[in-house]
Amino acid sequence: MCELSAEEPLKKLDTINFRKLAWNTELANNVNSLKKLKKYFSLTEGEEHSMQEVLDNHPMNIPRYYLSLINPDDPHDPIRKLAIPTAEELVVAGQMGETTGDPYGDDKHNKGNGILHKYPYSALVVATEYCSMYCRHCFRKRLVGLPNDKTVENFQNAAKYIAEHKEITNVIISGGDPMMLPTKVIAKMLEALKDIDHVNYVRIGTRTPVVYPLRYFDDELIEVLRNFNKQKTLYIPTHFNHANEITDLSKEAVMRIRNAGITVNNQAVFLKGVNDTVQDLEDLMNGLIRIGVNPYYLYQCMPVSRVRHHFQVPLKRGVDIVSKAKRSLDGYAKRFKFIMGHDIGKIEICGRKDDILVMSQIHARPEHPEEASRILMGHLTENAGWFEDLDLIQ
Ligand code: SF4
Repeated sequence: MCELSAEEPLKKLDTINFRKLAWNTELANNVNSLKKLKKYFSLTEGEEHSMQEVLDNHPMNIPRYYLSLINPDDPHDPIRKLAIPTAEELVVAGQMGETTGDPYGDDKHNKGNGILHKYPYSALVVATEYCSMYCRHCFRKRLVGLPNDKTVENFQNAAKYIAEHKEITNVIISGGDPMMLPTKVIAKMLEALKDIDHVNYVRIGTRTPVVYPLRYFDDELIEVLRNFNKQKTLYIPTHFNHANEITDLSKEAVMRIRNAGITVNNQAVFLKGVNDTVQDLEDLMNGLIRIGVNPYYLYQCMPVSRVRHHFQVPLKRGVDIVSKAKRSLDGYAKRFKFIMGHDIGKIEICGRKDDILVMSQIHARPEHPEEASRILMGHLTENAGWFEDLDLIQ
């Protein structure tokens, strides 16, 4: 594990007032190379070598704000695990079993123009493939950038597809991170959706309130979101994983979004060494409720190549942790569903009775509508981490 440099420049980041920085120019200071990382961490030659190999497969991109949340005195710091690459990413598949680059079946459901139409009622548009931070646990590790004019052109075509499909009741603008697009591009995308009558609401999925809250100190963006929300309901699903990510700045960012009348929901990922204790979950869910963010999903870590081996929590252990955490959480804090985002649809993990895992499928593919509300049960083994590892009871 890389050590902090002797001069501990990380601590100096605490003195920066990030809310005063222009969000687009500050991105130039992101730590996105070994050279920049070495400003903050001392690496041995061996570590440098293995980390370069990791970066060749999954790039690094860490905003200085997010880097400032790392506690330099804690070698097991959760923020560090979410942001800094480790040699464990060289393991394509390991102790937890087989992996894939496309666990959610995105490629299969791609309708072109960046649209994924998996469920009849929801259309997901991949607006960009750039993020302010590349999370080490990301399930869309196949990241490449698209120029902005191409994004707008693609989006016009996506909007046409949505207008032609009256069964679509909601649109998710996703990525990558759509909030990394210039405000004018976001405005144009929303404009293209506002008059489609059968779309009840729009979601913009973004991790920026967590990893790059300074984006929300751009008044122009807040106005674009506020104005759209007056015409069609807008939700912001975000992605807090640990209570240490709830800071004064992220709280202010959330407040600015909420003051524009927009609801913020959270989709966390359950990750080994990051949030896999009862206390971690309690602190996270209570912290979210306190800042006005609704806990919505807690995702079981998917069997993603270079992720599963070191981040996935076995289901048997995981369901016990989640069940215990729910005992002490109040009604609003425990509203989240513990979910497997599987290719066949979303599967809620309800609990276990001895070695039998009880699940409820809550979304299904259009060709199997009868699966959308079925109860599933499967035998657990100590290491089972995903649906395929369960011996299903027919
Ligand atoms: S912000 Fe989301 S899409 Fe981007 S790297 Fe993180 S998890 Fe992946």
